[in-house]
Amino acid sequence: MLSTMTVKQVDANNHARIAELGQRVLNGGELSREAAFFLFNLEKSADIYDLLSWANRVRESFKGNKIHLCSIVNAKAGACSENCSFCAQSSFYQTGSPKYGFVDPEPVAEAANEANKNGVTAVGLVAAWKGLNDGPMLNEVCARITEMKAGGKTRPDASLGIIKNQKVADRLKAAGLECYGHNLESSRRFFPNTCTTHTFDDRLQTIGYLKKAGIKICSGGIIGMGETREDRCDLAFTLKEIGANVVPVNILNPIPGTPFAKNPPLQPLEILKTIACFRLILPRQEIMVAGGRTVNLRDMQSMVFMAGASALMVGNYLTTLNQPVEKDLQMLKDLGLDPNWDSHGFTDQEEGGCGCASGKCEEEPQMAATR
Ligand code: SF4
Repeated sequence: MLSTMTVKQVDANNHARIAELGQRVLNGGELSREAAFFLFNLEKSADIYDLLSWANRVRESFKGNKIHLCSIVNAKAGACSENCSFCAQSSFYQTGSPKYGFVDPEPVAEAANEANKNGVTAVGLVAAWKGLNDGPMLNEVCARITEMKAGGKTRPDASLGIIKNQKVADRLKAAGLECYGHNLESSRRFFPNTCTTHTFDDRLQTIGYLKKAGIKICSGGIIGMGETREDRCDLAFTLKEIGANVVPVNILNPIPGTPFAKNPPLQPLEILKTIACFRLILPRQEIMVAGGRTVNLRDMQSMVFMAGASALMVGNYLTTLNQPVEKDLQMLKDLGLDPNWDSHGFTDQEEGGCGCASGKCEEEPQMAATR
């Protein structure tokens, strides 16, 4: 009988180089851009699985078994003045996405209660508009944040677009905001393909104001928009430079009516490889798998943790559905992962933080990272 098995050649040189780079990060070292780009370009499944296994070791070494869960509440939907090519909420495209003005306190309190019930660390108030300036809307936003903080159910986060000046960022901090979501979307080179109504530098400036105000930064991007692997690599290094605390990796879920509606989907292994590369470039950050997870990864969703993810967006996204929270919580339990992240905090990302899961020990960074 003829065998249909295809024997694939496994490259011993790649195996050794991946191991050398993985060990370097475990030892507290850093990847050069050239080394990272080699990882982004791995093609063979045997090499990619090697990389995932190192990314998993790095996650366990720096993050333990804690997983940071976030959810979002759409605080103002649709009719956005910006033309982001991936977004259902832009007024430039006909998408059938809902439209409403800024939410009252009740739905926000409900979202916080629901999150608390499910052990979710943070709830982000998200608004579809260009950004925030001083004025009555900033007062409303600050009121919602202060109410959430006072309710004590979850960490109040927000993603409210471009911040116009330092005073706005300081007001948000004073209201109780701890972490602000502001994605760079892609590399500086590719950004104009995603949006032309504001610039990459506008986004960097917002991040500068937030950091100066003492607000943690949640910033990542979207893959599958037509960018190259080099763009993904550049994005990861820019996020390292700006000192993002949480790095969301969204995977494009093409929305009918938007310019990216017909983009071909990324293969699951390409997505997992990208997450693993981000983990090795950003070993201490929370790498969060966010929008597009269910539709693009399907049965391979649980592998994001083996690829180095340490955070997960749960509950529905802004305009698309996610799998039920209960299913995500069961997935974490089955994997031996713990969503009780709060005690962990961001302390392991601080200067001199040891990189161990407790975030409290006083070992030298390199010592702890080699365990
Ligand atoms: S991504 Fe944000 S800024 Fe861009 S169109 Fe959508 S809601 Fe507006």
